[in-house]
Amino acid sequence: MTTSTENNEQKLVDGMGRTIVNLRISVTDRCNFRCTYCMPADNVEFMPRDNLLTFEEITRVAQVGASQGIKRLRLTGGEPLMRKDLPVLIRMLTQVEGIEDVAMTTNAFFLKDHAKALKEAGLKRLNISLDALDPEKFLHVNRRDCLKEVLEGIKTSAEEGFKSIKINAVAMRNFSESEIIGLIEMGRSDGFEVRFIEFMPLDSDQTWERDKVLFGHEIIDLIKKKHELVPVENSLEIGPASEYDFADGKGRIGIITAVSNPFCDHCNRIRMTANGKLRTCLFSTDETDLKALIRGGASDEDIVKAIQDAVLIKEPGHKINLDDFERPQRAMHAIGG
Ligand code: SAM
Ligand code: SF4
Repeated sequence: MTTSTENNEQKLVDGMGRTIVNLRISVTDRCNFRCTYCMPADNVEFMPRDNLLTFEEITRVAQVGASQGIKRLRLTGGEPLMRKDLPVLIRMLTQVEGIEDVAMTTNAFFLKDHAKALKEAGLKRLNISLDALDPEKFLHVNRRDCLKEVLEGIKTSAEEGFKSIKINAVAMRNFSESEIIGLIEMGRSDGFEVRFIEFMPLDSDQTWERDKVLFGHEIIDLIKKKHELVPVENSLEIGPASEYDFADGKGRIGIITAVSNPFCDHCNRIRMTANGKLRTCLFSTDETDLKALIRGGASDEDIVKAIQDAVLIKEPGHKINLDDFERPQRAMHAIGG
């Protein structure tokens, strides 16, 4: 059985005993950026729009998931703000019984104009991607000259008073080293936790190599040259990041060692692509077609069963570090990071 009932509460438990409470929902595979670690520079083949789940279909999956113990949702993409009327979806999702939190990961380009509506719709937390504060490096990695708009989006969101804003930076060797201190100083002065994510083999261009990853321990060593850090106890049991407080009490950073020390043992998330495919791991090579079930007239019980069956065989961990590692067919923008 993949569900267990404790205190009358349904739980989605996988074959390794991990309880799944997070569902990441991709709302589109489209994006206005072309980050080198995610998308190709051009000629992207996007999902036909008819294949994207409607807001009603997404909400149904959230309801069924919540009935099984899903508590937290994160909207992602592609760039989630490329999807029209996103606040409407956020409002629908925040009203689902059992859902405690709806968050979003974004490149921030559209936030200047949309932060207020998103907050009013019930969005509580934002993760914003920002890899470089140097405009040329930003252009190089994001392939768009948009640093100004991103910084404005971050500023507007901070003014709106979101419960939490975190900055995510992909950590790449010979690129990130010179950006790390600038990013953490910005986080310290503006009250954002900055998190560095080791570059993973999910880029469309398929240029990933182990040598191109700037490892978490190297980032820590670099920061320690300037600041004393105090590890936050048990942070890896709560989320994917190893967190550290600055000893002077001013701020916190996170390191996501997805390659060098994966947090798979504590993974409590599943994902759904914009075209309704359930994935139990970023690196899944199999998917469960929830769209086919929904559009084929399946009952809620059928969808519960499909989710339970998928969760039961959730991958124990990814195999990036093993010889039999197989890249998933989809790149990050088509999965939903
Ligand atoms: N467009 C939004 C954004 O960039 O925040 C949401 C989607 S993006 C795929 C989600 C997250 O995945 C971003 O923080 C991005 O930096 C991260 N990401 C994308 N490709 C990655 C890769 N190959 N390795 C590590 N992180 C990656
Ligand atoms: Fe777009 Fe986000 Fe991928 Fe960059 S990481 S190309 S912003 S989806």
